[in-house]
Amino acid sequence: GSLPPDPVVRELVAEAHSRYSDHSQGAIADYIPILAKADPAWFGVSLVAVDGRTYDMGDTEIAFSIQSISKAFVFALVAEALGHEQIRERVGVNNTGLPFNSVIAIELNDGSPFNSMVNAGALATTALMPGETCVEKWEAIRTGLSRFAGRALELDGDVYRSEARSNFRNRAIALLLQSYGRLDHDPLAIVDVYTRQCSLSVTATDLAVMGATLADGGVNPVTGERVVSEDVARDTLALLASTGLYENSGAWLFEIGMPAKSGVSGGIVAIAPGKGAVGTFSAPLDPAGNSIRGQRACAYLSRTLGLNLFASQ
Ligand code: GLN
Repeated sequence: GSLPPDPVVRELVAEAHSRYSDHSQGAIADYIPILAKADPAWFGVSLVAVDGRTYDMGDTEIAFSIQSISKAFVFALVAEALGHEQIRERVGVNNTGLPFNSVIAIELNDGSPFNSMVNAGALATTALMPGETCVEKWEAIRTGLSRFAGRALELDGDVYRSEARSNFRNRAIALLLQSYGRLDHDPLAIVDVYTRQCSLSVTATDLAVMGATLADGGVNPVTGERVVSEDVARDTLALLASTGLYENSGAWLFEIGMPAKSGVSGGIVAIAPGKGAVGTFSAPLDPAGNSIRGQRACAYLSRTLGLNLFASQ
């Protein structure tokens, strides 16, 4: 079925926001120093339907860095350029069961980066972006993600510089991948492109539009533009279902039943294929790095709007 009538959706989005506004659990990420400056009270919930209708509640206009959520959309751009088989072979599509920045995961599997949603696989995926040089790759990522969002996304220079100064672990991961012959480009230059993609500035509403583009088979429901093919949108959602919330992906799918992607700055995008997508922003995180209020709001909307993929109605 489709979404309920307008006033019902509007009220449920408002309720998803008000129910969890007072929650105070979770820790704000500080391993990227500037992220620690986020206000724990900020909370936005947005829903965009595949017909373009948009429902916003709370701090849906506050900009934050997209962080790991970029991985989902860069994956889609690379899958579009390279095809299903190539991305599966060269990066992989299985969950690591380990934290997003795990080095052990790579070592345990002969240098495989596992999947495009953990840092190792995301670095390998960014390296596969079309473009000879890193400048071209970055430009293709920025314009590609902007097409998903339906507006020109900008780099947050402060976030970029803060992460670029402190991302020793990502540099180590890139060098380790190089040692296994898994990166064709200069590893530190790829880390730089990846750090830029993570520093693109978005709002909860942008995330909902980006997700709704996947829900709509690759067509942005607000601009009407086709961004990726239907097959790529489907493949991206399949990957998100098993890997989008890192080592908590199984529990997430069990509770909420929606392909989704989270990021350490506090964003979550959760997609209901053929219906629409929810975008949330709230900085306090659980130990795996997933926004706590965001997870609750998505669970509420999945339940009340019937967005669980596995529900028969
Ligand atoms: N840029 C962050 C990092 O590489 C993204 C991580 C995340 O959102 N989980 O560490």
